[in-house]
Amino acid sequence: MISNAEFTAAAEELGFGRVYFLPVDDIPTPYVKLVSSPKALLPGAKTLILLIMPYELTDDEGCREGVISPYYKASQKAYKGVKFLEKKLIDSGAQAVCNANIPLKAAIVKYDIGVQRLNSLTYINGIGSAFHIQNIITDIAFEYSRIDRSFSITDCSKCLHCLRACPSGAISTTGFVDPNRCLRFVSELKQIPAEFENNLGNKLLGCDECQKACPHNMVAKTNAQFAYPLEKLLKGDLGELPELIGTNLARKTRMICKACVLAANNNRTDLLPLIRELEKSSDTYISAAARRAMERLEVIT
Ligand code: SF4
Ligand code: SF4
Repeated sequence: MISNAEFTAAAEELGFGRVYFLPVDDIPTPYVKLVSSPKALLPGAKTLILLIMPYELTDDEGCREGVISPYYKASQKAYKGVKFLEKKLIDSGAQAVCNANIPLKAAIVKYDIGVQRLNSLTYINGIGSAFHIQNIITDIAFEYSRIDRSFSITDCSKCLHCLRACPSGAISTTGFVDPNRCLRFVSELKQIPAEFENNLGNKLLGCDECQKACPHNMVAKTNAQFAYPLEKLLKGDLGELPELIGTNLARKTRMICKACVLAANNNRTDLLPLIRELEKSSDTYISAAARRAMERLEVIT
């Protein structure tokens, strides 16, 4: 049977930064859609494996193209990686299940791997909050990880930098993040509600502002974020996007509509000829988004 060291080496090769082997306990969660009892998914499970895929927060200020949070690339990579590892365990004769409905943030806190802060995100010592997490439940009795509980990170200092940095006012002083206002979720909608158009700025997908403002995170000063050219999007050219962020989020209509919003946000009057063409589209979502962008941009010209 595969050992801890062999599994960890395989996970690290796939880009995972940390691997934790944990007992399979119940994980209390207030969310009814999540599975608080992992053993219900795999009776006889002996180990819950948490796999952490870190990513780098980068500075995208001043960028006038469609910025995609590095979170999405990391989550795609982690998803493919965990499916590979799940198969590897099954091929070795074990039972193994990777399930998206395990309350993973709650698991991080429960097992003392990290803490939750005011922006509702969990922070792991030495990594911060910029990571994607995956899991595997298996009947292999791995040796459980020894968790370093001597956190060098302190609890949230309540400095409120995250709250002030949030473009849409989604964070409350009690630490509740309103998913209906959070741009990470708003940016994934098929249609962007008018009240959030300006808040999005140059964000094509995702938002990292509360993470970047937090003193417990590091932000790379390089402009290494992934920004997709708005001109290409308006032409319906999605390039490598489906591969990078997944086919569900990289739907052509959705991307063209969002490119219209971002073009107006960033005063991209150079894109008006393309937007005027899109206004004639038979797709009602696209024609409405183009008309709205024209109204906003033509005020500027
Ligand atoms: S991800 Fe963005 S919109 Fe959501 S709470 Fe953080 S700063 Fe606000
Ligand atoms: S920015 Fe300040 S208040 Fe917000 S999570 Fe970080 S330490 Fe806590």
